[in-house]
This record gives sequence, C-alpha cells and structure tokens, in this order.
Amino acid sequence: MQNITIAIDGFSSCGKSTLAKALAYKLNYKYIDTGAMYRAVTLFAIRKHWIDAEKNINTQALIGALPEIELGFANNPETHHSDITLNGENVEQEIRLMPVSSVVSKVSTIKEVREKMVALQRQMGKRKGVVMDGRDIGTNVFPKAELKLFMTADPEVRARRRADEYSSKGQYFSIEEIKHNLQQRDQEDLNRKEKKLIHDLQLLAQQNAPKT
Ligand code: C5P
Repeated sequence: MQNITIAIDGFSSCGKSTLAKALAYKLNYKYIDTGAMYRAVTLFAIRKHWIDAEKNINTQALIGALPEIELGFANNPETHHSDITLNGENVEQEIRLMPVSSVVSKVSTIKEVREKMVALQRQMGKRKGVVMDGRDIGTNVFPKAELKLFMTADPEVRARRRADEYSSKGQYFSIEEIKHNLQQRDQEDLNRKEKKLIHDLQLLAQQNAPKT
C-alpha cells in the first residue's frame, strides 16, 4: 500500500499524540509531535531568560536566535518513541513541565517561529509515511494530507489526562489550575493571528472539500 500523510489536529490534551503514536506504530510510520517543537523553542527562550515572570517575551532576541535552534527527533530505546532534541540535547521531559506549558502558546503566536516550524515540518514529512499532530497540520502544513482527523474532548477529561501526565513526572497541580492553563492556551490558539486553530467542523469540511 502506498504511504500517506496523516494529519491530526485539535485542542491540547485530547489524546492526539496517543492516537498518533499508536497509528505510527501500527503502520510503521514516522510520528512528528509538532507541539513538542513549539515547546522546545519555548524552552530555549526560557533558558536564555527571554521570558519574564509576567510572560513578556523578548521577541526580537528570540527571532534573531532562530537560526541557532536545531530541532530533531531521536528514537528512545526504552519507550520506542521519538524524543525531541534541542541542539542535540534530549529535552523530552523538560518541555512537558509547567514553566514551558504556561507560555508555549504565546511563543507559538510569533510569526517567524511558526514559519521556521512549518518549514521544518514540511521537510520532515515530505516523503509521506508520517503521522503529524498539532493545531494547523491539516489546514496549513499539509493541506493535501490524505487523512485529516480533528480531535476534541470534554474539558474535565482533558484536565485529568494532563494531571496524570504531570503526576507521573512528580508534579502535582489542582485540576482547577490545569483547567485554567488549558483554557488560556485554547484561547490563545483560537484567537492568534497566525494560523490559528480552526475548530469549526463545518468550516474545516468546506475547506477540505474537493474542488469541483
Ligand atoms: O500539543 P501541545 O499541547 O504539546 O502543544 C503546545 C502548544 O504549541 C499548543 O498549546 C499550541 O499553542 C502550540 N502549537 C501550535 N501549532 C502546532 C502545535 C502546537 O501552535 N502545530
């Protein structure tokens, strides 16, 4: 069977990556977690102290440093999943922690950051045989993907999934606190100027309908 591109979009903590990993495993496809890419750029900026306590970003410094940021995916022999690398360092664990989660959506609004990520994603997926999950994969990165899925879930379920992920890493937050973070990110993802998340299924269907 010919390899295809599978695009999975949707809100955070709905199970996109769980589904994407399972599909990639079953089909022997490459799995690309595009959220991890935006998270790694955010971690880079945090480490440089370009994001302050009020979440103001030194955007110019970050844009200027984008050519220095090298992202990749390396197979983790223990989990058999691909972990994200930032300039050669495995940062898979660190990017999932709250300091990154609380500002990543803001970093993702920066046009130049998105341009770099999208170019990299297109490069990584150009040979097909790929499952990519994110917010703009079916609408922007691979608008011609043969299979496009959109996922959503109840806010309570999403918050519990994220709480379990944090607690498995020894981090404990109240469900209310996590819900607040998810809601904030949803708002930022839905309202940003650059390639926002489209969750109107009718609009998505119209966009994706074959041209007659
Ligand atoms: O999927 P995950 O929650 O790890 O994504 C982190 C953040 O990265 C999202 O809240 C969103 O703001 C951003 N993102 C994006 N476009 C993508 C993937 C993620 O803007 N394709």
